[in-house]
Amino acid sequence: MEKYRVTIGLEVHAHIKTVSKIFCGCSTEFGAEPNTHTCPVCMGMPGVLPVLNKKVVEYGIRAAIATNCSVAPYSIFARKNYFYPDLPKNYQVSQYEKPLAENGFIEVTVEGEKKKIEILRIHLEEDAGKSIHDMCEGSLVDFNRTGTPLMEIVTTPCISSLAETQEYLKTLKSILQYLGVSDCDMEKGSLRCDANISVKPAGEEGLGVKTEVKNMNSFKGIQRALEYESERQIEVLEGGGKIHQETRLWDEKAEKTFSMRSKEEAHDYRYFPEPDLVPIVVSEKWKEEVLKTLPELPRARRKRFINNYGLSDYDSKILTAEKALADYYEDCLKKVKDVSGDKKFCKTVANWIMGDLMGHLNEENKSVEESPVSPEMLVDMIELINKGTISGKIAKTVFDDMYKTGKAPADIIKEKNLVQVSDEGEIIKIIKEVIGENPASVESYRKGKEKAIGFLIGQVMKKSKGKANPAVVNRILKEQLK
Ligand SMILES: [Zn+2]
Repeated sequence: MEKYRVTIGLEVHAHIKTVSKIFCGCSTEFGAEPNTHTCPVCMGMPGVLPVLNKKVVEYGIRAAIATNCSVAPYSIFARKNYFYPDLPKNYQVSQYEKPLAENGFIEVTVEGEKKKIEILRIHLEEDAGKSIHDMCEGSLVDFNRTGTPLMEIVTTPCISSLAETQEYLKTLKSILQYLGVSDCDMEKGSLRCDANISVKPAGEEGLGVKTEVKNMNSFKGIQRALEYESERQIEVLEGGGKIHQETRLWDEKAEKTFSMRSKEEAHDYRYFPEPDLVPIVVSEKWKEEVLKTLPELPRARRKRFINNYGLSDYDSKILTAEKALADYYEDCLKKVKDVSGDKKFCKTVANWIMGDLMGHLNEENKSVEESPVSPEMLVDMIELINKGTISGKIAKTVFDDMYKTGKAPADIIKEKNLVQVSDEGEIIKIIKEVIGENPASVESYRKGKEKAIGFLIGQVMKKSKGKANPAVVNRILKEQLK
């Protein structure tokens, strides 16, 4: 690998989150009965005329502004001609010579270094339908997806590592989600990514011959496919062979890429301007209006979390990666009157979210919107710890219970009798028992082995079923040992 340099360019297709399709009024809802969200327009019947969904353009402009692209005042649709059973018109309406937006960038940070990933263009297009090959003998076609609006975001071949690839994709996904223009759910196919990849000997000018890799269904899949493909290319070159420009499919199960076809050139598609649609004209006024509606973006929010809540760069990056998670965090903080002076509270909330809450959610593959623990419940629980009602350790149990049952923390504490014991008399009693039962540890503590106290504290906590107030235990135990 050290002898070679890898160069990657990415094409991301993101479903645009409109209620209806790009050129007709059919619903874009995912998961409906096959062929129920269709009409003559998206079925490609003769004589029908498409009408552009204005919201699609607006969302395209949003994405363009957020990725520092210049929005073209005038852009047009083109027909991309090819035959495929899930493409009823035998052409896809896309943009070719004059895309909606060009020349932008997204800044990413990889291993502490900032890099601008250049965006060549963003164009609008319609999605094709879906072929289903594994339900019966022969194949089935579902046209529900046909005509779903897409934006294709294309980078220049400027990405020089897999780490950069991952960081770019994560950042882009986060931006699109914040903008509300796409769900970016790879499992539902609302975010897809194709990659161009080439390798060349280090120090050589220009670019090597590239292959296009398709069919990756997850960020991990992209990582593995590009790892495989770069190694494959290096092996070919090392063996004295040549790389052929071609399209290769990633096979998730075999963990290999396979040659699908020699790479088609643009002229193979016989692009020509779509005669049934008028050009898209974006006035300065429209751009300004869209600009006013842009929400705070992940990078800005991250900075604000660091400045206002005293979080570390690492914590704020995790908490702001998904808009819903950042909203959850701020909803928690809103439950308390003035949070800006209480950095400790801000950090405690962050820890509970990043640790216990995300742990549970990830385990069940749930999003934060589906969390059974509301921000209010979490804050109530943290306040119970701060008041000394429960210990931090018991809180873990309370949290698990809240997550499982959706009950309020105070109810769980009452039901399970988890209130922390701070009563010194009761604690001294337990401590005396523990000292009596563990003469060896007591002896080694007294001989100066301070670590032995940890064991004794553990025993006290165990005897109290985790309910003794650790601070009180610590103090009294030391006194008693003296
Ligand atoms: Zn339709």
